[in-house]
Amino acid sequence: MDNCIFCKILRNEIPSSTVYEDDKFRAIMDIGPVAKGHVILLAKEHAANLLEADDELLSAALPAVKKVAKAVKKTMNCDGINILQNNGEEAGQTVFHLHIHVIPRNKEDGVKLPPPMATYADGEAAELAKKIAENIERREC
Ligand code: AMP
Ligand code: ZN
Repeated sequence: MDNCIFCKILRNEIPSSTVYEDDKFRAIMDIGPVAKGHVILLAKEHAANLLEADDELLSAALPAVKKVAKAVKKTMNCDGINILQNNGEEAGQTVFHLHIHVIPRNKEDGVKLPPPMATYADGEAAELAKKIAENIERREC
């Protein structure tokens, strides 16, 4: 991916501050942090987002996120951590290469995550649950 900024970082063509690396991921400091200590975990293999990524890669992602999150929590001595992952422009994704945010949080840090903004009519959530359940892809045995 010639023009992908995170691929360039992974090829060391653009500088970054690495905090963790294994065969599948590299975690770097986010240059536009939501809070100090904000890290992003980059998949080494290019995929536009989570929906496009390999299951094998994804199954390694959470343990790597956990490792990084524990180090961030220890370093920043924060009260909590948000794990955030955006898929698609409308969902706030700006770099179309799979990455997962690790964001330290503190009491009264002023960070605003989206509040609940939708409401359901009677029975609507159950109806939607049924439709989503029908669209869950089954594993072939
Ligand atoms: P998203 O909006 O989920 O696609 O997140 C992209 C993130 O990448 C943003 O938080 C940016 O601040 C971060 N970012 C963009 N360019 C760089 C870079 N060169 N080094 C580190 N982080 C970056
Ligand atoms: Zn890429």
